[in-house]
Amino acid sequence: MKSGNSILSSYGTTIFEVMSRLADQHKAVNLGQGFPDGNGPPDVVEAAARYLADGWNQYPPMPGLPSLRQALATHNARFYGLEVDWATQTLVTSGATEALAACLFGLLEPGDEVVLFQPLYDSYVPIIRRAGAIPRFVSLKAPDWSFTAADLDAAFSDRTKLVLINNPQNPAGKVWGREELELLASRVIAHDAMALCDEVYEHLVFDGRKHIALMSLPGMGERTLRIGSAGKTFSLTGWKVGYVTAPAALLGPVIKAHQYLTFTTPPNLQHAVALGLSKDDAYFAGLAGDMQARRDRLSAGLTAAGLKVLPCAGTYFLTVDLAASGIDEDDKDFCRRLTEQVGVAAIPISAFFEVDAPTHLARFCFCKRDEVLDEAISRLGKLRRSGRGGAEP
Ligand code: PMP
Ligand code: GLN
Repeated sequence: MKSGNSILSSYGTTIFEVMSRLADQHKAVNLGQGFPDGNGPPDVVEAAARYLADGWNQYPPMPGLPSLRQALATHNARFYGLEVDWATQTLVTSGATEALAACLFGLLEPGDEVVLFQPLYDSYVPIIRRAGAIPRFVSLKAPDWSFTAADLDAAFSDRTKLVLINNPQNPAGKVWGREELELLASRVIAHDAMALCDEVYEHLVFDGRKHIALMSLPGMGERTLRIGSAGKTFSLTGWKVGYVTAPAALLGPVIKAHQYLTFTTPPNLQHAVALGLSKDDAYFAGLAGDMQARRDRLSAGLTAAGLKVLPCAGTYFLTVDLAASGIDEDDKDFCRRLTEQVGVAAIPISAFFEVDAPTHLARFCFCKRDEVLDEAISRLGKLRRSGRGGAEP
C-alpha cells in the first residue's frame, strides 16, 4: 500500500503526550504538559452547562456566535486599545491550535518563507511545512532569550511572507518588550510581510508587567493576526475554544481554511467564553496574581532542590538550567529519569527546537494546586540525596 503524508509521518507523538503517559505510568506528579488542575471560573463552567441544557447543541454560525465575537472585540479595545469590527475582524476556532492551522493554511503558498523564533510551540513547523512553506529560524538563547537586528536580518528575505511569534513565549517565560516588538515591526513592514501572533498567554504576565500586542504598534494593525485561547485565559484547556482577531482582508482566507478544518466550535462553550471575556478587571488581575504566586512557590522549591531556575516573566512555565545545576545529563535523559525515579515529570526544552537545540534545559509547569506543587518539591529532594544533581543552592 502507498504510505501517508511524508511530512506529517516524519514527526513522532508530541512530547506533551509522551511525558503525560510516562507520568501516568510511573505515578509521577505531572509538571510536564501545561494544564491547570483546577476547574476554571465556576460562573463560566455553569454557563456552559446551562446553555447545553437549554438546547445550544446544533451548528452555530461558521465564524462563531455573535455573543463571543462581540465580547472579543470589546476585550481587544479594553486591554489593547484596538478598534475591532466584530462582524468582519473576528473568528472563533476550536482552540488556538486550530486558529494557528487556519491562519497558516489560509495565508501561505508553497515556497513562501516564514520567520519563527526558537524555542517554539510544537504545532507551528509541521503545519508550515505541510502548507509547502519554508521555516526560517531565529534562535533565542537562555537565560534572557533576546535577539538582535542582525539576527532578524539573517532570517528575513524577499520571500518572507509571514513572521510567527509567541508572546508571552512558551517555554521561555519571555514577555516581549516594546523595543523588541518595534524592532520586529520595522522588519515586517520593510518586507511588506504579515505577523501572526500566538498570544494565548496574554493574561499570564507577572510582576506588574503589561502584555503588549504587536497588533497595537503603528503600521501593524493592517498586517497582524492575533490569536487567543479560552483554555489559557479561563484555565479550561480541554474546552478548545480559540479566537483570531485580524483585518478583514487577512481574515477572509483564514475563514476559508476554518470552514474546511472544523467549520464550527461548540456553541454552549462559545456563550460561556463570551461571559468569561466580559469578567471584571479583578478576574484578570487575580488570574495573573494567582499564577505568579505558584511560579514563586515552585521556583523556591526547585532552587531548594539545587536546581538553577531561570527568570520567568509570563506563561505557565519555569526553565531549569541543568548544566548550571551541576547535572551532567542531557535534557531528555534527565526528564525521563526524573519521571521514572524521582516521580516528577518535566519537558525537555530541546523538543521546542527544530535546529541547534540546547540540551541543558528542562521545563516545569507551575499552574497546579499548592499541594501538588508541594508534593513535587518534596519528591525533588531525592535529587540532591541521589548525588546526581542538583548542586547546593
Ligand atoms: N500556543 C501555545 C504557545 C501553547 O502553549 C498552546 C497550549 N495549549 C497552544 C498554542 C494551543 O492552545 P489551545 O489549547 O487553545 O489549542
Ligand atoms: N500548551 C501545552 C504545553 O505547552 C500543551 C498542549 C498540548 O499538549 N498540545 O504544555
